[in-house]
Amino acid sequence: MVEASTGVVEADGIWTTKPGLRIGVRVADCVPILLAGPLADGSPWVAALHAGWRGATGYGDPAPGGGILRRGVARYQALGGHPSHLVWAFGPAILACHFEVGLEVIQAARQDPAWQEALASMGPAGKPHLDLHGFLRAQSLDLGLESAREGSVALCTVCRPDLLYSYRRGETTGRQWGWIEIG
Ligand SMILES: [Zn+2]
Repeated sequence: MVEASTGVVEADGIWTTKPGLRIGVRVADCVPILLAGPLADGSPWVAALHAGWRGATGYGDPAPGGGILRRGVARYQALGGHPSHLVWAFGPAILACHFEVGLEVIQAARQDPAWQEALASMGPAGKPHLDLHGFLRAQSLDLGLESAREGSVALCTVCRPDLLYSYRRGETTGRQWGWIEIG
């Protein structure tokens, strides 16, 4: 989680308070997360985060504090923001219908205090499927974000080749961008 500068930054999350500086994350099947809210002085703060299962669970991350969404909201709070003021959205990603994972992924997700067993289901191949949007939503509500301020787009990248790129579907060249900017 880093503050945006001009140019490309390699990070799993970036934020800015600069009007006109457009920030974004590039994803194929992972979840682009956009956050926007006022800081203590009323000035705007926006963030763009990238959450695959590792990012969502914080798996293998040496930094404490859980996954990228928890760290992003913690940064907002550290700057004086209140989670209930955030407007938040998850963009198109591989959804539970297609997100077959190994058991180690479910085990990693279970470490999160907001985990609910209903977020995992058994797929047709006998392997678990993870509801990544649902998992991130459970974290959001646990963090104090409000349902009424969510504006997610629940489209599956694998299900919608007419609209979206998907790495899982076999495309390795295209990506989606999730953009946010203070106007
Ligand atoms: Zn699907």
